[in-house]
Amino acid sequence: MNLDAHTPAGPLERKWETRRFEMKLVAPNNKRKYHVIVVGSGLAGASAAASMAELGYNVSCFCYQDSPRRAHSIAAQGGINAAKNYRNDGDSVRRLFYDTIKGGDFRSREANVYRLAELSVNIIDQCVAQGVPFAREYGGLLDNRSFGGAQVSRTFYARGQTGQQLLLGAYQALERQIGCGHVQMYARHEMLELVVVDGRARGIVVRDMVTGEIASHVGDAVVLATGGYGNVFFLATYAKGCNATAIWRAHKKGAGFANPCYTQIHPTCIPVAGEYQSKLTLMSESLRNDGRIWVPLKAGDTRAPGQIPDAERDYYLERMYPSFGNLAPRDIASRAAKRVCDEGRGVGPGGLGVYLDFADAIGRLGSETIAEKYGNLFEMYERITGEDPYTVPMRIYPATHYTMGGLWVDYDLMSTIPGLFVAGEANFSDHGANRLGASALMQGLADGYFVLPYTIGNYLAGVKPDGMDAKHAECRAAEVAVRERIERLLAVRGSRTVMSFHRELGRIMWEHCGMARTKAGLTAALEKIPALRQEFWKNVTVPGSGADLNQSLEMAGRVGDFFELGELMCRDALAREESCGGHFREEYQTPDGEALRDDERFCHAAVWEWTGADRPQTRHEEPLVFENVHLATRSYK
Ligand SMILES: Cc1cc2nc3c(=O)[nH]c(=O)nc-3n(C[C@H](O)[C@H](O)[C@H](O)COP(=O)(O)OP(=O)(O)OC[C@H]3O[C@@H](n4cnc5c(N)ncnc54)[C@H](O)[C@@H]3O)c2cc1C
Repeated sequence: MNLDAHTPAGPLERKWETRRFEMKLVAPNNKRKYHVIVVGSGLAGASAAASMAELGYNVSCFCYQDSPRRAHSIAAQGGINAAKNYRNDGDSVRRLFYDTIKGGDFRSREANVYRLAELSVNIIDQCVAQGVPFAREYGGLLDNRSFGGAQVSRTFYARGQTGQQLLLGAYQALERQIGCGHVQMYARHEMLELVVVDGRARGIVVRDMVTGEIASHVGDAVVLATGGYGNVFFLATYAKGCNATAIWRAHKKGAGFANPCYTQIHPTCIPVAGEYQSKLTLMSESLRNDGRIWVPLKAGDTRAPGQIPDAERDYYLERMYPSFGNLAPRDIASRAAKRVCDEGRGVGPGGLGVYLDFADAIGRLGSETIAEKYGNLFEMYERITGEDPYTVPMRIYPATHYTMGGLWVDYDLMSTIPGLFVAGEANFSDHGANRLGASALMQGLADGYFVLPYTIGNYLAGVKPDGMDAKHAECRAAEVAVRERIERLLAVRGSRTVMSFHRELGRIMWEHCGMARTKAGLTAALEKIPALRQEFWKNVTVPGSGADLNQSLEMAGRVGDFFELGELMCRDALAREESCGGHFREEYQTPDGEALRDDERFCHAAVWEWTGADRPQTRHEEPLVFENVHLATRSYK
């Protein structure tokens, strides 16, 4: 497997400029001869599809929702980072680059991260031009707040619905191109297979989710912007529909899968309330700007929070990480919450919760100011828990929230299959072993608005349109494979629902490959998951048929892929004998319980190659070279 990242030579600050100059261009009147397929209409997909069409390419865009504007990106709450330094508080492109490399525990590629920091400032300008209503401060400049892992305020936001506003901007740009006839939009279509011809990605097979029709679509390049795979844990903050099918099927066609075990557990989610719950809700990290996190000092203290005096509270993040306090990065804050709960100091039912308390902030700023900043989040919390966070502290606990792993891509965001590009959360690129808050939106939009329009052009300049159509033998073969899989799922007619299998898989993943991992636990998971997968294929029940709308069938296909992916995540976590970022192996920790990296053996991206069904994938390595930052032990103390 060729893992050449094609990182341009020269100083870090000039790499992207150098690369853009080196790139071949497609002449304006030739662009319409090329067809680009974009799967996904979230921030990464919508921005890529709109930008490519604006340049003059023909684009087909696919999503499984009924409208592109319902992509999961719409859920993003807190904000988007950019090194604008509007606050004059010491920010710079270099600092955002450094914070991101350090935040990712030195497990990402320097050149990509620097480019991301550089492009962050363009994103804000682009979105403002589209009319995205970012919060403003009194003087008229865009307002900023702070997010974890940074000591500057660089997060741009639109109350607690930043993702929605950004997506409306990208969606408008996309709709304009649909109106102009340059983008053909296929909503309610699910990609189920990648078509590879002579080693190049040339198309996809989709199922019309309403009629059940299976069809191929061909193009000169394919972009996957299909989001993250955290729903492998069943309970997560993701929209229920999020899944790994597109990237997993591409992996099985030859795309390397990088760092699958790197998942993010977010510290501020509403705790699990019962056995039959199927979804978790995030309380944005932005709340940690003003909320203080604490638990009782004494284990087993069951008094109501208002009856516990300050001296008997442990503001543990402020105590353990005085420089960053409540804004310690997510992996660190999550582990700290787990630790205090393991000590018996957790609050709420089952003791799996910590307080996020706004009393001080309300006393200082007044509840009106707090409502202006976080009103919709407070309302959401009250609707779900029945408790009023203006008067009673919120209860929060860590939950699965983001996946840093994904399909491996080079500097141009191209996977190991030529012509297959991967953007947004679906690729592995910029966040290393832990993503800092407010940086996923930044990455998705950088990829779609500012990177792919160049790099896909460069790729297309080297290939000639050849008139291939959907009758090609490879399309037919891929369609047959899709039909056979659907028929196999429908034929089982067993006795267990898809959901019950998914829930059990999620429990195994959370227990053995969640916040804390051990060799023994991962080994046990690698026995349990294949056994459960086999039972799934013998005993799942999928009612209905493949000829019309069938949500059980959709879910069954996705859960089938989650089984294989879950196994790979455990294998990856087992092979990485170190702790870094969100990957915490209990055997590898410092005396005070922090992640202990092993740079000698593991300063690389682990990339897995599919070798066939029921055979373990092969592990490859892309070494990570640090020329501009020193590999250091990460400290937020
Ligand atoms: C509750 C919540 C709050 C968040 N808040 C923030 C925040 O404040 N700041 C921040 O930076 N990040 C935040 N994040 C993370 C961020 O929202 C996501 O990482 C990001 O939006 C992902 O964007 P994307 O374009 O890569 O994918 P998505 O938005 O997930 O879009 C995926 C697209 O792919 C399509 N798709 C997927 N599979 C297929 C298939 N097989 N066939 C056809 N179409 C397919 C879907 O239909 C969809 O259109 C938050 C995440 C959550 C869960």
